[in-house]
Amino acid sequence: LAKKKPQLNFEFYHPEMEEKMTWRLGIIRQLRQDFSDNKLKVWYQPQIDFKNLKMIGCEALLRWPTSDGKFISPAVFVPLAEHAGLIIDIGQWVLEQACIQQKYLESIGYKVRMAVNVSVPQFRDPNYVQQVKNTLKKYGVEPHYLELEVTESIVMDEPEVVINVLTELKEFGIEIAIDDFGTGFSSLSYLQKLPINRIKIDRAFVKDIPEKDAGAIAELIVSLGKKMNLKTIAEGIETQDQADYLINLGCDEAQGFMYSKPLPVEQLIEFVKENSIST
Ligand code: C2E
Ligand code: MG
Ligand code: MG
Ligand code: MG
Repeated sequence: LAKKKPQLNFEFYHPEMEEKMTWRLGIIRQLRQDFSDNKLKVWYQPQIDFKNLKMIGCEALLRWPTSDGKFISPAVFVPLAEHAGLIIDIGQWVLEQACIQQKYLESIGYKVRMAVNVSVPQFRDPNYVQQVKNTLKKYGVEPHYLELEVTESIVMDEPEVVINVLTELKEFGIEIAIDDFGTGFSSLSYLQKLPINRIKIDRAFVKDIPEKDAGAIAELIVSLGKKMNLKTIAEGIETQDQADYLINLGCDEAQGFMYSKPLPVEQLIEFVKENSIST
């Protein structure tokens, strides 16, 4: 029998593919326009210290308003912005907004840590470290009050480069958190090589607590954190039962709708005044 010749695999034409492409290009064009028209917003979700239930920090989260008063989810547009390279400028803008708010809150007597999400293309930019340092200096923010959230996909992109970049940032005093921990595809072996301060337990494991398996994974992550001398913060806490369960495990910090949804700046300021310790 003659061996079957390898065949080039031509994709058949699907109208949906073209529609999807057109849709994406449309989104990116609109995003670029709205970003340059200053229409994007940053909202801030409070982070709570389980020790005293005081607010200690917050996560900066992008919001893209539509003309009908709703929002396009960052889970939809951030990946497109990454693909288009637009996330480099948008990410820098988010960092600056977070610095401005950190400084403002400090000026009224509150020291609040600002967590900012970072994307792969930002990390690949050879000027990234210098740019972050310059931004902190420009706004007069102490490095210790900035936390950068990186995902496993960033770490796995180019582990050696990423470890060097993170080391430099951490030595400067910036805090580093691993976001969505446990949902990526990387092995645990990278964890011991990474210069980080905090592990964020993904909402996927929090939402089913106290159901047995979810609780077991949360327990594992918290004890891993303790042994490695890293703080743990649980994302997506919605109920008191979930909070109690995590407190019992010895989890350090909390973020979730139970404490607060992400807030526009004016509401963040009110929340800080009511829930954090003034200095
Ligand atoms: P993330 O960094 O894991 O952010 C946490 C997400 O969980 C946020 O969704 C937040 O609103 C949501 N969340 C927090 N607590 C709860 C809860 O109790 N229940 C539920 N159901 N959800 C909760 P959001 O704001 O839609 O952001 C989605 C993702 O978009 C973020 O996930 C992050 O990966 C990305 N993103 C947002 N802003 C930025 C940004 O400035 N830069 C980059 N690179 N990515 C961003
Ligand atoms: Mg995050
Ligand atoms: Mg997360
Ligand atoms: Mg997440």
